[in-house]
Amino acid sequence: MTEPTTPASCGPVSCGTPLSPEQRRIMREHGTERPGSSPLNDEKREGVYHCADCGTPLFSSKTKYESGSGWPSFWAPLPGAVGSTTDTAFGMVRTEIHCAKCHGHLGHVFPDGPRPTGERYCMNGLALSFHPGETA
Ligand SMILES: [Zn+2]
Repeated sequence: MTEPTTPASCGPVSCGTPLSPEQRRIMREHGTERPGSSPLNDEKREGVYHCADCGTPLFSSKTKYESGSGWPSFWAPLPGAVGSTTDTAFGMVRTEIHCAKCHGHLGHVFPDGPRPTGERYCMNGLALSFHPGETA
């Protein structure tokens, strides 16, 4: 084990753990991780999912569910935690979801989720950092 190195410069919204190249690809360039690749798919503990970049709390384990999509899925974000834009890449109209604070890309929302919202927030696990035992 080596100590993580402290970034030389620390911007206003990115003072946590430096992002890995794959996390940067997802969060800054709207990438998508391989389905089924995130250990958070199987995360069943209570806790809060934070933005992997700026650390803002985004989702509670209370709204997480098993969608079978291969990505961590939630039926609602924490109030005001995320923003959305219409994404027309690849000839599909989808709603893109990003962190409301740092605008890091998180995933997409689809209208085929469970009650009570009917929404499926399909998130990249690499864009989230899970804090077990926290309450939102
Ligand atoms: Zn953020």
